Amino acid sequence: MPIFEFDCRACGEHFEHLVLPWWENAGKTPDCPACQSSDVQRALSICAVSSDNTRKTNLDRARKKSKKIAREKEVEEFKQAVEHANEHH
Ligand SMILES: [Zn+2]
Repeated sequence: MPIFEFDCRACGEHFEHLVLPWWENAGKTPDCPACQSSDVQRALSICAVSSDNTRKTNLDRARKKSKKIAREKEVEEFKQAVEHANEHH
């Protein structure tokens, strides 16, 4: 089932929500998780692309995130190595 991004018009919350197949035909949208308003609209950025692209975008985003974590880990290990080296001098 596709997950779409939504913007809440009441409070500006941006959130992702699973959309049931019949929702689209019924014009149904999920309620805002922040303020429970039903005044939400589908985020335009996702509207224009196919679900394949959406999946790829999410994958890229996840990959970038894990890369960042890996880099932070490297920095931490480097710091520890430097500290360790200093202890022996
Ligand atoms: Zn809201």
